[in-house]
Amino acid sequence: MIKVAINGYGTIGKRVADAVNCQKDMEVVGVTKTKPDFEAKLAVKKGYKLYAAIPERLKVFEDAGIKVEGTIEDLIEKADVVIDCSPNKVGAENKAKYYEKAGIKAIFQGGEKKDVAEVSFNALSNYDMAKGKKFVRVVSCNTTGLTRLLYLIKENFGIKKVRATMIRRVVDPKEDKKGLVNGIMPNPVKLPSHHGPDVQTVLDVNITTTAFKVPTTLMHVHSINIELESDAKNEDVIAVLENEPRIMLVSEEEGFTSTTKVIEYARECRMRYDIFENVVWRDSISIVDGELYVTQAIHQEAIVVPENVDAIRAMFELAERDESMKITNESLGIC
Ligand code: NAD
Repeated sequence: MIKVAINGYGTIGKRVADAVNCQKDMEVVGVTKTKPDFEAKLAVKKGYKLYAAIPERLKVFEDAGIKVEGTIEDLIEKADVVIDCSPNKVGAENKAKYYEKAGIKAIFQGGEKKDVAEVSFNALSNYDMAKGKKFVRVVSCNTTGLTRLLYLIKENFGIKKVRATMIRRVVDPKEDKKGLVNGIMPNPVKLPSHHGPDVQTVLDVNITTTAFKVPTTLMHVHSINIELESDAKNEDVIAVLENEPRIMLVSEEEGFTSTTKVIEYARECRMRYDIFENVVWRDSISIVDGELYVTQAIHQEAIVVPENVDAIRAMFELAERDESMKITNESLGIC
């Protein structure tokens, strides 16, 4: 049983904690918070052992009457691996302050630079490269969504080049300190956006990306054009995507007319309306002059969750890729 510490119980951290706790070969030994807010109280209520992410703030929790077991340093002593889910760039600081010193394995998230880890990770694309590694970085939500799709297309039809446009939710639903109320922001204005180079950390593919932020919190949408190496028909692409559990095919006819409907569907059948799959519009799949067009939606808060679980299995060599993905999928209701 692999003992897992979650450092940073926020949007990604709390979802990864719950996903780890659904597995039979790993367990959460503790989670950290920086302050004694409602999320800290909920973590304790759920049965997670709570630790102070910043050792000097231990007393702040005690003063607020919230039981903490110790600091991040105490938690690391009890764990085999830390999943760092702290804000962008803080993971690299935690690595230098704690993980290297303690000699513990760690998984970082997509907000860190790629050099924080020995390897960047996507389960479908490069599971084996994380085997036995000490530091692994799970790529970001947009990169995970792009890589899953492009890996399947590359394996089955070959790819000459990819051009992709990311229409990004501006912030997550809980974020009340920043946002874009009325406007469409090219982000960045100058090509390329960071997503293409980030995909290339996990998949060898010719890709250029652009990105725009829009005033929504629900999901990202990707408009992707892929120049194929081999001849294919729309049905061939659909057959490949239908066969991969981490892709969910939906259609306008079924009522999936926008991301709001996708979320409405998930509200009925998933905890926190989490969608771990790429949501691909079946009707968008079109091959025109050897070029494949696809539109997909990505639930930014959830899509990297299964990848974190698989990354643990790869680092500890607990299972081969397909076996790990199958176990993770079944435990999270991905089918
Ligand atoms: P978040 O702000 O929701 O959560 C971060 C948590 O870390 C908070 O609870 C915060 O209190 C805590 N924290 C702050 N300082 C810390 C420290 N020094 N040590 C430990 N914890 C600390 O952020 P998030 O959205 O969960 O993002 C976490 C990581 O996941 C980032 O790298 C981000 O880029 C990546 N990511 C986010 C999304 C997304 O859309 N939310 C998607 C994929 C990847």
